[in-house]
Amino acid sequence: MARLVIFTDLDGTLLDHFSYSCAAARPVWEAAQAAGVPCVFNTSKTRAEVLQLQAAMGLEQPFIVENGAAVWFPDNTTLPLPPDARAHDGMRCKVMSIARADILERLYGLRSRYVFRGLSEMGLEEIVERTGLGRKEARLASQREFSEPLVWLDTEDALKKCALDLDALNLRLVRGGRFVHVIGACDKGQAMSWLLAVYQNAFGGAVTSLALGDSDNDVDMLAAADIPILVRSPVHAPPVIPNRPDVCITSSYGPEGWANAVSSVLSKYGVDIASQGKPE
Ligand SMILES: [Mg+2]
Repeated sequence: MARLVIFTDLDGTLLDHFSYSCAAARPVWEAAQAAGVPCVFNTSKTRAEVLQLQAAMGLEQPFIVENGAAVWFPDNTTLPLPPDARAHDGMRCKVMSIARADILERLYGLRSRYVFRGLSEMGLEEIVERTGLGRKEARLASQREFSEPLVWLDTEDALKKCALDLDALNLRLVRGGRFVHVIGACDKGQAMSWLLAVYQNAFGGAVTSLALGDSDNDVDMLAAADIPILVRSPVHAPPVIPNRPDVCITSSYGPEGWANAVSSVLSKYGVDIASQGKPE
């Protein structure tokens, strides 16, 4: 059987939308780790946020940030990295986007046409208020390198027009759980596929990707995965995954739905989590 690699969104998927807790998923997560199944974060969060989260979970592993903009590896990774994964800040990094400064310059050129509020315009207190994060976490969330999250204050029609304007500037607009994100010409699916090829090299054989997400910004990742799982959100309807009638939607929300879905796939791969989790 092919080796399994899990790619998971964080907010609203592995982490509860409101509390940001992953407690409900932890036993299944730990069973996957113990069985040697890599579980890669693929998130709109920043490198600083993911590093802090991984430290709190006792993890040091590759991860994808800012909606597919970059793949980061610990400097001591044993994975066979291609030469374009360069050394940066004591880590290794494959960049798949343009820098944030370029994104801001293009985006704010459209300032007079649409009504929105960007993260770079907000002080720390406003970020705390809009995200529900603590001050320390909000500071980490503001350390963006490849994207600009927006609170959209205009109409849905204007959002569609703005997406077209951004497309002409080689930028993309994707909707997350709380913000719409302006990013370069990258997505979570491309980044996942690039990293999957690295794992394929490392394992020397076929690798099956199991991907989990809850929002529009997860659609590319879910569409590209071998096993796509939509985790149910308490705040919005599940997005449509084009050409994937096989997509499963969890019956439970967030980390509880994550745990049920992953434990069910793991058990097909012979990983027994019955004593640690509670399968659906
Ligand atoms: Mg999410």
